[in-house]
Amino acid sequence: MTSTLPMIQALPTVLHLIDGQRVSGGTRTADVFNPATGQAEKRVLLADKLTVEQAIASAQAAFPAWRATPPLKRARVMSKLKNLLEDNADAICALVTAEHGKVLSDSMGELQRGIENVEYASYAPELLKGEHSKNVGPAIDSWSEFQALGVCAGITPFNFPVMVPLWMWPMAVACGNTFILKPSERDPSSALLVAELALQAGLPPGVLNVVHGDKEAVDTLLTDPRVKAISFVGSTPIAEYIYATGCAHGKRVQALGGAKNHAVVMPDADIANAVSALMGAAYGSCGERCMAIPLVVAVGDATADAVVEGLKVEIAKMKVGPGTESSCDMGPLVTKAHFEKVKAYVDQGVKEGATLVVDGRGVKVDGHEGGYFMGACLFDHVQRGMVIYQDEIFGPVLGVVRVKTLQDAMDLIDAHEYGNGTCIFTRDGEAARYFTDNIQVGMVGVNVPLPVPVAYHSFGGWKRSLFGDLHAYGPDAVRFYTKRKTITQRWPSAGVREGAVFSFPSSR
Ligand code: NAD
Repeated sequence: MTSTLPMIQALPTVLHLIDGQRVSGGTRTADVFNPATGQAEKRVLLADKLTVEQAIASAQAAFPAWRATPPLKRARVMSKLKNLLEDNADAICALVTAEHGKVLSDSMGELQRGIENVEYASYAPELLKGEHSKNVGPAIDSWSEFQALGVCAGITPFNFPVMVPLWMWPMAVACGNTFILKPSERDPSSALLVAELALQAGLPPGVLNVVHGDKEAVDTLLTDPRVKAISFVGSTPIAEYIYATGCAHGKRVQALGGAKNHAVVMPDADIANAVSALMGAAYGSCGERCMAIPLVVAVGDATADAVVEGLKVEIAKMKVGPGTESSCDMGPLVTKAHFEKVKAYVDQGVKEGATLVVDGRGVKVDGHEGGYFMGACLFDHVQRGMVIYQDEIFGPVLGVVRVKTLQDAMDLIDAHEYGNGTCIFTRDGEAARYFTDNIQVGMVGVNVPLPVPVAYHSFGGWKRSLFGDLHAYGPDAVRFYTKRKTITQRWPSAGVREGAVFSFPSSR
């Protein structure tokens, strides 16, 4: 929902951070809701082209000095930021829960994963060491070094408002780039607070700018020639658009998209433990995770029956309510529109003939009647042709698909358009090895339901879950945010006269 500036007075306004200052810019705003109450609590500015261009100019101006700053000094800022993030964790997580809705312990988990990315970025001097070869020819030495690109930009989704920005800019700036972050307009405040802490940690003004906004802001970043690289995380249709538009404008782009992750449960699995793992993976953060498990592929009817029975029992114990109450397992969905969308998918699943074993559509939370709460939903007998099988629902909706063999399960997964994450529950090492070796998915778990790589590996899916070549964070991020330069150097002995050589230089 957008409105014009005169309305701003009624609610606090979330401003941009440009050149080290909180500033306004743009005449449009969007309401920021507390999903647990359904009340608009803030307004966020939506940057216009001019405002984004000011941020780009600030980042461009800050680049030469920041690039020339020794990597160790840049890394020290990351180390200080890590401490500040730990000291301010409660304030940051309160903002995440107030705007996203997830329970506080989940906000803490996301922040911790973000901090680990800051920690990894503080190893930049080690990670940026080049490659050196002496005597590649007579008196010739050669080395490769990894140079900063310039101004980079990141566009991030609502579902990890603090972690996903930290996948991007800490490594980008540790590598000597300057950065513009465009967080989700649905929950913009935590990324802004983190950016201010980065200034406090010693990041010079202009090295990191935050602009809030929507398509107008994003399109300016995608088309401005001063922006050299774009990192995007969000839904697949937008990821495709970002990738195509950014590449058409000569930028390096990595665009991570949506997902529909399958968990295979084998007949020999420890069913009780698999059920516990599936509960968190399906319903944690209300299913609003790109690594969530919205589909179980049960091998054999007996396995499916046992899994469905186990899930029913566990779902009955779940508590849905505001994320600020520590006894709650699951908070609300992020917006009313998203709530309606998820509900419509459940309606559609019923119409398509899947068996709705647990129906969370009618859940009410006392004292929070305006909140976007939905209880856990569980479908059995989901078929591959159904919309609820194919589409990313991004809500607390888990479907069970029944197959006869592991190969059937793998064929199903491989045929799906997304390939972000998957996992297998089994006690059979041979089956697990066959699965991890052959499945067409980027991140795979064995008895691990959410195989999210740690900060010193890299994160990314296959197929239509990622557009680009390099994955997010970890070692791939060092490559993404730098360009390789290879220098070949010779110092001939003084006074030695050399004749011209017309053949291609080689070591022959
Ligand atoms: P989204 O695609 O709606 O928005 C992501 C970002 O793009 C936001 O900053 C938004 O302002 C911007 N945007 C939206 N529409 C745009 C347009 N038309 N033109 C330009 N920019 C636009 O995604 P979301 O709803 O915020 O997040 C949920 C999605 O993100 C899910 O599909 C989820 O799977 C995905 N996701 C993927 C990963 C991953 O690593 N693969 C991680 C987290 C979330």
